Amino acid sequence: MNSGKAVAPGDMIGILGSGQLGRMLAMAAARLGISVHVYCPESGPAFDVCAKRTRAAYDDDEALAKFADSVRLVTYEFENVPAHTAEFLARRVPVRPNPGALAVSQDRFAEKSFLNSLGIATAPFAPIDCPADLVTAAARLGRPSILKTRRFGYDGKGQVTIRDGDDASACFAAVGAAPSILEGFVPFSREISVIAARGLDGSIAAYDVNENVHADHILSTTTVPARIAPATAAAAVAMTAQILNALDYAGVIAVEMFVVGEGAAETLVVNEMAPRVHNSGHWTLDGALTSQFEQHIRAISGFPLGSPRRHGRIEMRNLIGGQASAWREWLAEPGACVHLYGKHEAREGRKMGHVTRVFDGNERV
Ligand code: AMP
Repeated sequence: MNSGKAVAPGDMIGILGSGQLGRMLAMAAARLGISVHVYCPESGPAFDVCAKRTRAAYDDDEALAKFADSVRLVTYEFENVPAHTAEFLARRVPVRPNPGALAVSQDRFAEKSFLNSLGIATAPFAPIDCPADLVTAAARLGRPSILKTRRFGYDGKGQVTIRDGDDASACFAAVGAAPSILEGFVPFSREISVIAARGLDGSIAAYDVNENVHADHILSTTTVPARIAPATAAAAVAMTAQILNALDYAGVIAVEMFVVGEGAAETLVVNEMAPRVHNSGHWTLDGALTSQFEQHIRAISGFPLGSPRRHGRIEMRNLIGGQASAWREWLAEPGACVHLYGKHEAREGRKMGHVTRVFDGNERV
């Protein structure tokens, strides 16, 4: 068990998952003198930039035990880490953020119940286990409403909008007849997210609030600062801090929220949280003193948190699927900070890279 000793430069830490988030975490760790062992059933972008890699299933206890023995602590780049894997590793080595935070954010019903228990507003919701539940819940929550699987949903997968006249059995079948929730539709004016970190000592650092635009359920652009009232931004950060403290969290968290109304009438509704670094925080690589990736490594390692201070007005654009084929033009644009994930196949909807532009000043165009 490696839990006794604090992490120091020269040590190795483990990351579950080999996607672009793991890749950017590994590069940030290297900057602090920490090397990374990536564990994943499939090879991916993080495998190109780590000191050690294990390609094995998440239920391969022998491989997991060797992985745990090789690292000071384990973190993860995605929230669908199987509970068995997190618990098995946590018996041998610190897992940060803690498996409790992981469990809450893996299940939309548990997550919304947890948020409501803190007095934080979510969309109204009801658990759905069969078409009859859906009929009753849709009568209460109204139409349109959104049916989402409790687990394993991302980028709009496992979701269907329930409209007037839709058949409950067909809708339930469309999400794979999996345990789900029905959510009331939130008539939002904007979507925002807060990226914040909590250190092992309980210190918290939050970035300025992101404004996010999705296309086909996938994040398309993030602009910072969000066009919201200062009091709304302060409330969004305060809510995030409340969540971090309630979970006794270590690491970076992302909390996605809907803004309802405009100006002084703005209110916040939390959509979901991700116990990890997040796409809407990618701009921090070029636009903040400390990137979200470095901040996560600092937080889980027990290092002092870095300054989240922003350098200017930010626009981050994802390069999805074929959009990444314009990489040469992006590289030729003065001031564009280009990040490419090294994925070999540009499938539709796949995040291939992102571009950040940092403009002088704080004002919005
Ligand atoms: P999610 O997978 O929960 O992040 O949802 C993906 C996107 O669907 C969100 O970013 C919103 O644009 C939209 N959406 C999700 N839930 C709701 C809701 N309850 N009301 C309105 N729009 C929603």
